[in-house]
Amino acid sequence: MVIGVLALQGAFREHQEMLAALGVESRQVRKPEQLDGINGLIIPGGESTTMGKLLHDFHLFEPIRQKALQGMPVFGTCAGLILLAREIIGSGQPRLGLMDMAVERNAFGRQVESFEVDLDVPALGEKPLRAVFIRAPYIVSVGPGVEVLARYGDKIVLARQGCFLACAFHPELTDDTRLHRMFLDQC
Ligand code: GLN
Repeated sequence: MVIGVLALQGAFREHQEMLAALGVESRQVRKPEQLDGINGLIIPGGESTTMGKLLHDFHLFEPIRQKALQGMPVFGTCAGLILLAREIIGSGQPRLGLMDMAVERNAFGRQVESFEVDLDVPALGEKPLRAVFIRAPYIVSVGPGVEVLARYGDKIVLARQGCFLACAFHPELTDDTRLHRMFLDQC
């Protein structure tokens, strides 16, 4: 199994380290042909407007969309979650739009740019998941095909739709590998 990690910008190395810790081979994706033969793709955190622009500049936008629509699993974290959303509140920025959800960017306010919490994620078992939020978005609403996997307060922060998984936080910055393993099961 080989997992592609979109490597245009943001926290791609940390995802690769986590995959390596799980004994899974990963590949940095910067060109369309690097999508060939991968079993799934991770879109990391970073800056979603910059990443959206780079996806166009590197001619990756449509190839990723097409592969995903043909069944390639995609895991978007933080900025990656924003890129997966159908709607980004108040923004016309480019997005892949693969998941039927509306998201709000930088949703936790300037005074709490970064924080950590323990989240209840029933799908991962009893032990709470440590979640690192960095200028994080959240999911405002989801369509009927989207399964909500975790909330922080009343805000949806982890969701799944078919082979697409999205979280508002940075699972690659902790040593809890359960969310990556959930994604690998999908791949
Ligand atoms: N605020 C960033 C954005 O809107 C996301 C932050 C992150 O990925 N840590 O793209």
